[in-house]
Amino acid sequence: MAASLTQIRSLLIDLDGVLYRGQTALPGAAALLDFLRERGLGYMLVTNNSTLTPEQFRQRLLGMGIDVPTELIMTSGVATAAYLASVAPPGTRVNVVGEPALISEIEKRGFVMGGRESRYVVCGWDKGINFEKLKTATLAIRDGATFIGTNPDKTYPLENDIIPGAGSIIASLVAATDVEPIVVGKPEPLALEQAMRILGATPANTAILGDRLETDILGGRRAGMRTILVLTGISTAEEALAYTIAPPDWVYNDLPALLTDWAAALG
Ligand SMILES: [Mg+2]
Repeated sequence: MAASLTQIRSLLIDLDGVLYRGQTALPGAAALLDFLRERGLGYMLVTNNSTLTPEQFRQRLLGMGIDVPTELIMTSGVATAAYLASVAPPGTRVNVVGEPALISEIEKRGFVMGGRESRYVVCGWDKGINFEKLKTATLAIRDGATFIGTNPDKTYPLENDIIPGAGSIIASLVAATDVEPIVVGKPEPLALEQAMRILGATPANTAILGDRLETDILGGRRAGMRTILVLTGISTAEEALAYTIAPPDWVYNDLPALLTDWAAALG
């Protein structure tokens, strides 16, 4: 059956390359959120970035004229802390390789920061990474701690450069331990499933809107939902055509083009 925009009752929205680029909102970003609210459609922002808290993302978006409540912003740090809470009781020791935003999400759930003796090792993006942190995490995993990665992105694109991302730090722990982590962020389905649970949504009536085939679109496909690619970020139209493992259901040049189609479909 051909996909129809009318089937979508909830939308999971990626941030970078979809709602903004750098510090600038993309055309249609605020209009998309207005449209979803006016039509009574559910939405949640879902980002693999674990270095900012939902409140910090809210402030960043407000600076661009986009108003989203913090409870509708799911970072991979929030998703990782929620996952931990689903498998371990409060008070459990967790060794975290990551930035303050990730540590605070995990502490909010009642977990205690620990060293080598920890039962869990969580690794995210950490711009203060050093040998001691890698060593402690490696020893804990080698002693039997469960290894969890926030998100697999090996790189992070800046305006003119590509720098190491969380996936590069996770890869060095994999090299040192021969243990593969449980990964929470896209394209793994855990964070997307949590977002759907919060919204009371099911894969059949949910779509993901993203700019990256190998995280947003592949993740949406794995979680069983519809997928919408916008060409305002990483992936190109040519790459979308060649992406046979998870072809997006819809491809739009930008948000205004999506909104025009969606409004017409709903009548
Ligand atoms: Mg993106």
